Amino acid sequence: MERFKFKKASFVSALLVTVVVVLLQFLFFFFFLELPISQFSSMLFMEFIVLLILVYILLSYSFERFLITRVRELYKSLIPTTSYTPSVGQSEDIDLLTTSLKKLNSDQNLEIELLKKEQSYRREFIGNLAHELKTPLFTVQGYVLTLLDGIEDKKIVKKYLKQTSKGVDRLIYIIKDLDLITKFESGMATLDQKPFDIIAAIENVFELLEMQASENKSVLKFDREYPEPLMVYADEERIQQVLTNLIVNSLKYGVERGVTEVSLEVLKEDKILIRIADNGEGIDEEHLPRLFERFYRVDKTRNRNQGGSGLGLAIVKHIIEAHGEKIFVESEAKVGSEFSFSLTLDRN
Ligand code: ADP
Repeated sequence: MERFKFKKASFVSALLVTVVVVLLQFLFFFFFLELPISQFSSMLFMEFIVLLILVYILLSYSFERFLITRVRELYKSLIPTTSYTPSVGQSEDIDLLTTSLKKLNSDQNLEIELLKKEQSYRREFIGNLAHELKTPLFTVQGYVLTLLDGIEDKKIVKKYLKQTSKGVDRLIYIIKDLDLITKFESGMATLDQKPFDIIAAIENVFELLEMQASENKSVLKFDREYPEPLMVYADEERIQQVLTNLIVNSLKYGVERGVTEVSLEVLKEDKILIRIADNGEGIDEEHLPRLFERFYRVDKTRNRNQGGSGLGLAIVKHIIEAHGEKIFVESEAKVGSEFSFSLTLDRN
C-alpha cells in the first residue's frame, strides 16, 4: 500500500515534469519557429512517452534512495534506545520499512506501559512500607516520650517499657521479612536442600503453634494418620517457615474453635502436594490474584492490628518458587481457605 502511494507520487511528478518540458517545446516550435503543428506533433508525442518513462524511472529511483537513506538515519538514531535491530538493504521494500517502524513504535509503547506499571508499583510499595513502619514507630515514640516525662509508679514504667519493646520487635520483624524478600528477589538467597521428613516438620510446627492455637480454642491436625516418614528434598528451615506462615494465618484469620487441617497427597512424577485448610473467614475471589503481593491485605485495618506485616504470603511464594515448586490458593468468604504447595519427594 505504502509502496503504491510512493509509486503514484513518482508518476505524478514525472507526468508534471514531462508535460512542462513538452509544452515548452511546443510553444517554442509553434510560436518562435512558427512551424505547422503536423510537422512536430508525432515527434513531440514520442518524446512525451519516452520522457515520461525516463523521468519516472529516475524519480522513483532517487526517491527510493532518498527514503532509504533517511530511514537508515532514523534507525541509527533509534537503535541505541531500543532492542530492535533492523536490516535495511539497498532494495528494501518501503512497505517492509513501514511495518518495521510500526513494530518499533508498538514495542516502545509496550516498554513505556511496563515502565509506568513499575513506577506505580514502586510508588505503592514505598507508601505501604512507610505505613507499616509508621504504626510501631509512633507507638515506640509515644511510650519513650511519656517515660522521659518521668513516671513514679514502677509498675507502669515496666508496662510502658514492655510496650516499647513490643514495638521495636515489630519493627525488627518487618525489616527482617523485607530483607528476606529482597534476598529472594535479587537471587542472593540460597537454599540448603537435603532430604528430610515432611511429616516430622509439620508435627514440629504444630507443637510450636500449640499455645497460639489454644488461645482461640482452635485445633491443628492432620486429615489422617501418617505412620511412615515421608522424605522430601528441600530446604527444611525454609519449608518450616512456609508451614509456620500458612498455619499462623489459618489461626489469625480463623474462627473460635476453628480447625486447621493439613493433608498430604502424593502426586505422580515424584511430587507431593501439601494442603493447609481452615474453616476461617475465607477470602473473596476478587482478592485472590493479588494475595501473594508484598503488603497486600484483604482487610486493610483489621489485619494490621493482628500483628502481621503483610509480607507472610509474599515470603511463602518466594520460598516455594525458589525451590522450583508451585503454590495455590482456593478460598470462599465465610467458608474457609485452602493453601497448597508442591514439593519434590526424595526417592533415594
Ligand atoms: P498478614 O501479615 O496481613 O497476615 P500475609 O501476607 O500473611 O500478611 O497475608 C495477606 C492477607 O491474606 C492477609 O492480610 C489476609 O487478609 C489474607 N489471608 C491470608 N491467609 C488467610 C487465611 N488462611 N484466611 C483468610 N485470609 C487469609
